[in-house]
Amino acid sequence: MPRELLLQVTPEIAANELLLKDYLSKQIKVFPQEIQHVSILKRSIDARQKAIKINLKVIIYLKGEPFQETKIELPIYKDVSSAQEVIVVGAGPAGLFAALQLIELGLKPIVIERGKDVRGRRRDLKAINVDHLVNEDSNYCFGEGGAGTYSDGKLYTRSKKRGDVTRILELLVAFGASEDILVEAHPHIGTNKLPKIIEDIRNKIIEFGGQVLFDTRVTDILVKNNEIEGIVTQNGDKILANKLILATGHSARDIFELLDKKKIFIEAKPFALGVRAEHSQQLIDSIQYSCDYRGEHLPPAPYSIVKQVNGRGMYSFCMCPGGVIAPCATSPGEVVTNGWSPSKRDQVTANSGIVIELKLEDFKPFAKFGALAGMEFQKSIEQKAWHLAGETQKVPAQRMVDFTQNKVSADIPKTSYVPGTTSVEMGQVFPGFLSQILREGFKEFGKSMRGYLTNEAILHAPESRTSSPVRIPRDPITYEHLQIKGLYPCGEGAGYAGGIISAAIDGEKCALMIAETL
Ligand code: FAD
Repeated sequence: MPRELLLQVTPEIAANELLLKDYLSKQIKVFPQEIQHVSILKRSIDARQKAIKINLKVIIYLKGEPFQETKIELPIYKDVSSAQEVIVVGAGPAGLFAALQLIELGLKPIVIERGKDVRGRRRDLKAINVDHLVNEDSNYCFGEGGAGTYSDGKLYTRSKKRGDVTRILELLVAFGASEDILVEAHPHIGTNKLPKIIEDIRNKIIEFGGQVLFDTRVTDILVKNNEIEGIVTQNGDKILANKLILATGHSARDIFELLDKKKIFIEAKPFALGVRAEHSQQLIDSIQYSCDYRGEHLPPAPYSIVKQVNGRGMYSFCMCPGGVIAPCATSPGEVVTNGWSPSKRDQVTANSGIVIELKLEDFKPFAKFGALAGMEFQKSIEQKAWHLAGETQKVPAQRMVDFTQNKVSADIPKTSYVPGTTSVEMGQVFPGFLSQILREGFKEFGKSMRGYLTNEAILHAPESRTSSPVRIPRDPITYEHLQIKGLYPCGEGAGYAGGIISAAIDGEKCALMIAETL
């Protein structure tokens, strides 16, 4: 019988098949040549001790034991070109995985996306980075693949439903992602690999009779007697269907405004907000791996940190080892930061959002906006940052120690944020209580991670699109909107997901719920 084994080995052994076989042969007391195959089932790094170890869960097949390579296949899709139509607004992870699931269930998705396809999108990203021009329909958040396309592609989630997570990971592998994502404790895909996977998903949707419309912004939702009738696009075209999955993401402010105007029930939701900190990757490696040089077998180190400061959680968010800070505004007149990494995470800088959890009461100054109070609070900070940094896509920046000492930095070195930075005292960007928590919090971070609090680290502001500032409430069992029949609020924008995997899971769930009603 093949043997399953849990073990801890050096990074060198974990990275080399022959060394690993040799090591295992000694463990199970056989000759190395008797081992037919070793499959790695799980891999994680244990960096708690000075000598870093790799935890592996393996299964060992000896010669003569039955072993077959398994290839992860796509589900069996049916042609749905003449099946019942379901409108899916938004081609982010939620919308795309909803569309695939609808096809699997024999329903025809019509995916409507305001942005361009992944290739067309690239030109608009260049325009933001180089010319400081923000296209309101095509940017780091909008366009095919949604906000996750040009990202680090981290695939871990706090979802406890491992079966759902595995299903999404396996679908990603079937669409071309490396099988490593099934094994790693903290899998990621990388911004260079995601676009091709997204393109293949779209081609599959079309191949099996679904429709995908780009450059098509939904400007109205047609409702009669509290039931969905369809949508209207920016050209005035109507698309009719009585089931609509609304997966427009956390940055579709016009959709939140539309729902509010139409008196379709939405509510303000707390989110988190702060700055994006950038260190040299080498410094983060030295802190996390307790060494000067991480060597060739360890990946660029991530970090994850959380502290309670003045009764609020302050924590790292969407940390990108070997990554770059990206300009993620979705409208002119605002600046927003986030981060991405290539699959090798081989850039010399490490960045992470460092954010503070907000409470509904923080939105009081914007109470007149009702359910949109949090969104207006978020917008006001993004606009203030834009103004303070010079009204381009440059962002306010400050050295970390200077920030904790309320001191404007005399200079800001070049960072990975391509549009550039302007030296600003960050306290001006945020309300006083947030600046205060950030200042205290960075000092606390410095105590836990020696070397983290350094003037070589540069803070960029703001990190403000951590999750949706609005919830579009739905029935917890049927997933249908509480008031409008046939409307399925979905993914991050509706407040039911955070990150690529949970958005994809939510997309699938909405599709399943629709199928159940038919
Ligand atoms: P979105 O991905 O936001 O998709 C919504 C889609 O709806 C968009 O394509 C938008 O164009 C479209 N849309 C909006 N309004 C309309 C309209 N009116 N008409 C038609 N279409 C419309 N998450 C991770 O898990 N790991 C990461 O490493 C990671 N890194 C990130 C890096 C960056 C730079 C960014 C911006 C985000 C990152 N995220 C990451 C977050 C992740 O991308 C989101 O959580 C996820 O994409 C949410 O999926 P969604 O489908 O709900 O919404």
